[in-house]
Amino acid sequence: MLGERMTSMRLTRVQVRRVDVIKPIKGRRTAVRASQRKRSLLEGGRVASVLRHGKRLALAAEDGRVLEFGLGMSGHLEYTEEIESRPEQPHEHLRWRLEDSEGRARGMLIWRDPRRFGGVTPLPSLDALRKRQWSHLGPDALSVEELGFIARLKEGSAAIKTRLLDQTVLAGVGNIYADEALFRAGINPVRKASRISASRLGCLHRAVEAVLSEAICAGGSSIRTFRDPEGKMGGFQESHAVYGRQGQRCEQCRTLIRGRTVGGRTTAWCPGCQR
Ligand SMILES: [Zn+2]
Repeated sequence: MLGERMTSMRLTRVQVRRVDVIKPIKGRRTAVRASQRKRSLLEGGRVASVLRHGKRLALAAEDGRVLEFGLGMSGHLEYTEEIESRPEQPHEHLRWRLEDSEGRARGMLIWRDPRRFGGVTPLPSLDALRKRQWSHLGPDALSVEELGFIARLKEGSAAIKTRLLDQTVLAGVGNIYADEALFRAGINPVRKASRISASRLGCLHRAVEAVLSEAICAGGSSIRTFRDPEGKMGGFQESHAVYGRQGQRCEQCRTLIRGRTVGGRTTAWCPGCQR
């Protein structure tokens, strides 16, 4: 676990390659002042805990400072035991050195976000994280109860796929996972959520849990879930039933898999298996 490996490590030598990945707290206009930047990025702080909620992570320092990471579509936080010798890869926006309690370098933490839909937000406390930055998020998709899942998805008149991707409804389901879970549950992604029976939504709940858990296993460790919120890495990509397979035949029923945009996102489904 990323959390276990990083707890009590000290973050030092912050390197900022791109200032614009640092975002203001939700609802504010300006990010931290340049003079405060490194401190706000937890420089000198010792990691007390690593938190995750949906596609968002946070590092809390023992002194109370918090740094939040919105993974967006391509953001990932990587822990590596290589030290500065590691050649810099493209899109490395922030780097920290990790030191143990004796001051020995133990690794590096690297924030990369090629598409830059994500961002890093400094916060003064865990209270600010929960009450401001994460207050709009729905429950985490891997911990929500079935009844809560059904009730939240059923509200409003949007397509089920749109509801699943809406992070205020449920936090943590990315585009690929949504398509794969809908396939397993046999639900057409454009069907209105409010018109799907509770028992079918119950199936979808189990499918979401299964797909997200498998993605974690395929990646080999939970750090991979942090690396790739959209499921493009690890072994999960080889096991797609519908995602990215538009125009090919469904492995289950041989019907041609269709594709279209739903709620602004590429969507694939099997008209034979999904109603
Ligand atoms: Zn099919």
